[in-house]
Amino acid sequence: DGHVFKAKNIVSSAGIVTTYTTLLPEATVIKHKLNKQLQQVKPSVAHVSLYLGLEGTPEALQIPKTNQWIYPAEGDHDTCVDNYLNDLSQPFPVVYISFPCAKDPDWSNRYPGKSSIDIITLIPYETFEKWSDTSWKKRGDDYEAIKENITNRLLTELYKQLPQVEGKIVHQELSTPLTTKHFVNYQTGEIYGLDHTPSRFRQPFLKPRTPIKNFYLTGQDIVTAGVAGALFSGVLTSIAITGKNILSKV
Ligand SMILES: Cc1cc2nc3c(=O)[nH]c(=O)nc-3n(C[C@H](O)[C@H](O)[C@H](O)COP(=O)(O)OP(=O)(O)OC[C@H]3O[C@@H](n4cnc5c(N)ncnc54)[C@H](O)[C@@H]3O)c2cc1C
Repeated sequence: DGHVFKAKNIVSSAGIVTTYTTLLPEATVIKHKLNKQLQQVKPSVAHVSLYLGLEGTPEALQIPKTNQWIYPAEGDHDTCVDNYLNDLSQPFPVVYISFPCAKDPDWSNRYPGKSSIDIITLIPYETFEKWSDTSWKKRGDDYEAIKENITNRLLTELYKQLPQVEGKIVHQELSTPLTTKHFVNYQTGEIYGLDHTPSRFRQPFLKPRTPIKNFYLTGQDIVTAGVAGALFSGVLTSIAITGKNILSKV
């Protein structure tokens, strides 16, 4: 809205691709050859996530605290991924089921008599790309039909693991890569920022310090994906800015 905020040090945690392609002036990007850096890395895989609300406490529904990672009974992982990416009707190569309600000791005080479950699998961004110009919640019947199909397949996987929750779901919503793009600005709906290839971990520019004086990066892209990686990136960026080894304190 025209306000200008000035600071001695600026830190971006929006991800290196978003930062360099949308937040910095183009002239700055060219001057420091930041676009060349981006050519060395790729976005991680896109995902869908099914968010479920259930009637009943985690205890009553016997909801576990551990995450579940479900793989097909047959075939090595890379082959299963390839088969699925070539033909999305093939079995999901991985399904991740998580139970946020059961991990939160304060959950039942805030949401008595309710539970929540997330179910995630991978999906190529291209599956939904043709709706990228539509807006959230108004993407049309064909888009909703694909969502419904994936939702039902994920629910089937859930009921295999937790048959007791069938009939207890009172709310369900599937996010697609376009949802991730809309809400967190990851341009291809990627789940984990940059792709986790061996080459990515050899890139010297994925670190707190950038070629721009007093401009720093933090977040999963400079360490590794996940909450722990993102948290630790904050420690590293703090060290880079202050020049103090705060690691022993942490
Ligand atoms: C569905 C899902 C489930 C996950 N489950 C787990 C899990 O169980 N355990 C685990 O360890 N990790 C999990 N992860 C990964 C984990 O969430 C990420 O690795 C972590 O959140 C990355 O933190 P970050 O701060 O680097 O980036 P983010 O959390 O992505 O934060 C980046 C922020 O930048 C903001 N932003 C983007 N563009 C702009 C802009 N132009 N201006 C201002 N702000 C902007 C975004 O809105 C966002 O808030 C999951 C990820 C997803 C998507």
